[in-house]
Amino acid sequence: MSGDIADFVVVGSGAAGATAALVLAEAGHEVAVVEEGPAVGDRDRGLGSSEAFLRLFRDQGTQVAMGRSVIPILQGRCLGGTTVVNGAIVWRLPEDAYERCFGVAGAREHVPYRALLEKMDRIERDLSIAPAPDRLLGGNGTLMKVGAERLGWAAHAIRRNVVDCRGSGRCLEACPTRRKRSMETTYLPRAASLGARLLPGHEVHQIETSAGAAVAVSGRTSTGAPFRIAARRGVVLAASAIQSPCILARSGIGPREHVGAHFHAHPGTAVSGIYRDPVRIWEGATQSYEVDEFRPQGFKIEVVGLPVELAGVRMPGRGEDFQRAMRDYGHMAVWGVQVRAEAQGTVSPLGRRAHIRYTPTRADMVTFREGVKRLCELHFAAGAVRVYPGVHGGPDALTSPDEIERLDKLPLDPRDWSLIASHLFGTCRMGASDRDGVVGWDGAAHHARRLWVLDASVFPGNLGVNPQHTIMALAMHLAERIA
Ligand SMILES: Cc1cc2nc3c(=O)[nH]c(=O)nc-3n(C[C@H](O)[C@H](O)[C@H](O)COP(=O)(O)OP(=O)(O)OC[C@H]3O[C@@H](n4cnc5c(N)ncnc54)[C@H](O)[C@@H]3O)c2cc1C
Ligand code: SF4
Repeated sequence: MSGDIADFVVVGSGAAGATAALVLAEAGHEVAVVEEGPAVGDRDRGLGSSEAFLRLFRDQGTQVAMGRSVIPILQGRCLGGTTVVNGAIVWRLPEDAYERCFGVAGAREHVPYRALLEKMDRIERDLSIAPAPDRLLGGNGTLMKVGAERLGWAAHAIRRNVVDCRGSGRCLEACPTRRKRSMETTYLPRAASLGARLLPGHEVHQIETSAGAAVAVSGRTSTGAPFRIAARRGVVLAASAIQSPCILARSGIGPREHVGAHFHAHPGTAVSGIYRDPVRIWEGATQSYEVDEFRPQGFKIEVVGLPVELAGVRMPGRGEDFQRAMRDYGHMAVWGVQVRAEAQGTVSPLGRRAHIRYTPTRADMVTFREGVKRLCELHFAAGAVRVYPGVHGGPDALTSPDEIERLDKLPLDPRDWSLIASHLFGTCRMGASDRDGVVGWDGAAHHARRLWVLDASVFPGNLGVNPQHTIMALAMHLAERIA
């Protein structure tokens, strides 16, 4: 690579961008990976949620979707993207999820299920993916296992991308001991060893086109200096389901009716249970165990190891009542429900930020109500003495499983719920032509040559399982074709 030019400029260094950069570098191309966020040093790791939000998350963790309610949209913003701050859950794509997301005419042919599974085989080897052993379940995971076994629900230890995990429950703060095999410890250094140039602190504002083809990206560095990097062979956009459509819109690349439309998500909420014996939620893998029983109904239950400052958000009460409730932190298990929501929202640029519009549908809220009921049932089956459903307008606490039926009356207004979303899709979706989507089945933009979008924004539908594995597999499949 010479000067500010490369064969391929990859925008974004998360699950998709890092994978694409590695594949292109392995094929012998000169690659520049342009990342808005900073490089992650050892001094940035394991410093608690507030510091993690400040250093590693987009908008310091304040990004939200506006709609009937305000829903936090969490994303990483650093070299390695959201993989640096995620829970290390790796879901091998089940066939039913493939069918739901990619099972449309065209996608099936160009993104075959078998091809994605082959890529997943490689990723599983590269990232040392294996189920969490019993010693890493911690009190939080062990209780979920006990509850699920008593209820006879399908459940299992979570498969994770870690090596020699110490079970410190801090994956969401960037693993302090670098045990998590996220992109900044795996594919990015490997791509760099093959000559790829990693450029943290470079925020792309625009993709430049000439005669209908992408020729360069331009923007500003974290010190405010303008930069421009030319692309001999093309630009690979992998800035996520929120930022990729914003970059296309700012660059005037359409089709306008699809760029930023069809925004899908898995919003989630959590329910805490208090147990007679200590749970010590801070011990064990951050996310160690999950219940698969209700995927056909559109939701999935997971252990969520939350630090005290975030666990507090799930507790009712104010002042002394709240303080009294928080004394139970050492006896608290926190479990979440992720919903495969049918709602679709929109994403558009608002200055340098994203304007996200999103409101779960009534059917989504009915699924949430069912999910929270099941979480309460699970806590009581595991031996909880008190459970906090966490929905405004419903009971603050339940003390017996006989009370669960009170939750049938939980309000369905999203404003009464504390929701959050971190699995995001669809805003530059694939489609046969520009009448259906932004890119073709090969990830190539319909409205610009030599421009590909490879991240979660291209998913044609909602996935329903934790997405990082599928995002990497799809990026690998498409990048091999580009290479
Ligand atoms: C707290 C949390 C926990 C999660 N846990 C899991 C889990 O356990 N398992 C799982 O499967 N999924 C999990 N996810 C989701 C998963 O990590 C993401 O779906 C995945 O990383 C998305 O991949 P991506 O490549 O599309 O985007 P990202 O990984 O978000 O990468 C996009 C990158 O592009 C950069 N970028 C954006 N705009 C620009 C610009 N203008 N110029 C330059 N660079 C730019 C961003 O800074 C970012 O680094 C979690 C997410 C969160 C927030
Ligand atoms: S649970 Fe394991 S992977 Fe996660 S932060 Fe702790 S040591 Fe790292």
